[in-house]
Amino acid sequence: MATVLDNCVSSESATTSVYRSAQPVVSFEEAEGLAEQFGSPLLVASRTALMRNYQAMRQALPGVEFFYAAKANPAEAILRPLYEAGCSVDVCSYGEMLAALKAGFTPDQMIHTHPCKTVQNLTSCYAEGLRWFTFDNANEIPKLARYAPDVNLLLRLAVSSTSSLINLSAKFGAAEPDAVPLMLEARAAGLTVKGMSFHVGSQCRSPEDFSAALSQARRIWDRAAAAGIELEVLDFGGGLPAPYRDSVLSLDVYCRSLSQSLDETFGDLPVRIIGEPGRGMCADTVSLITRVIGKSVRGGTTWYIIDDGLYGSFSGQMFDHVEYPLLARNAQDRPVFPCVVAGPTCDSSDVVTREQLLPDLEIGELLVVPTMGAYTCASASNFNGLDMARMIGIE
Ligand SMILES: *Cc1c(COP(=O)(O)O)cnc(C)c1O
Repeated sequence: MATVLDNCVSSESATTSVYRSAQPVVSFEEAEGLAEQFGSPLLVASRTALMRNYQAMRQALPGVEFFYAAKANPAEAILRPLYEAGCSVDVCSYGEMLAALKAGFTPDQMIHTHPCKTVQNLTSCYAEGLRWFTFDNANEIPKLARYAPDVNLLLRLAVSSTSSLINLSAKFGAAEPDAVPLMLEARAAGLTVKGMSFHVGSQCRSPEDFSAALSQARRIWDRAAAAGIELEVLDFGGGLPAPYRDSVLSLDVYCRSLSQSLDETFGDLPVRIIGEPGRGMCADTVSLITRVIGKSVRGGTTWYIIDDGLYGSFSGQMFDHVEYPLLARNAQDRPVFPCVVAGPTCDSSDVVTREQLLPDLEIGELLVVPTMGAYTCASASNFNGLDMARMIGIE
């Protein structure tokens, strides 16, 4: 049978929308104005881009309930528009729960997906009204039974994936043979297991990885049913990719392929299906405006020092293993040269890129960096006494 992917990639008329490339949410003119008004470094979050992503997912995955993974970016400029659009939210800590409450979400619109919680994390979120949690190991069971006995649980499974940049099953998820015994053990402790979840890994470039994970989930689902455990919820996690230096499949094509896999694996069952996109939802809805604050020639190579770096919004380069594209004004009309771009701290490892071709930049000139929404400011610090980039929301 032809898949959604085959059809799209082979149909000429569709090629323009098959891939999604990194596009800034502001023009250079707008960036100049905003930097003038708010200073730099500045993160600009576009509500229009966020709604475009959310609606693309909803249309291509009909019937799926979306819980935005707040871990990717818990800023109000992301959380509030999603709340207003009717999205739900995935939190991993009490801090993320408080950010979601502040943006308007109620506890019944939340799922807590940390498989290994401190008692403090569990009891704070439980006391605030959260009732959906996940677990992946036997040591979590007595903790849940003691402090949150009446919650709904999802068992997190480890799944294999081949095209993800970040493998999240390396740290979390029950192995296939342990899955049903863990559900039985939880039930014996008086807990209610309502479903299963998995995560194919973040920046998962091929939707085919979902298809393999879903088949594995279906095998375990049937074994649970045979053991007398009636499950209702399947949570396929996050993993949807975003464009950085390389393009990725468009959300529409990617999600239609995922929808087809869901139909093939779970279409015959009355299952409530939920997804927890983080990166795929918010990454390309935020652009960074950063300024050249210094310039020197070292060993024949030009070094630019900019006002944001690895300890700030570019922290994703360390923790998320992403290389961001840097855009200069009218770069296509100016000769470009290899250069090094480094961050503002006194740490010599604070280098944003050594492999960038840029025009001869003036001190004070702006660079715009698209796809700065996910795992960027969320993991930034104030190292060296420097302020983190301010974030503003635009329409
Ligand atoms: C990080 C995470 C997500 C979001 O993953 P993305 O790859 O950013 O979409 C979703 N669910 C869980 C449990 C996570 O840990």
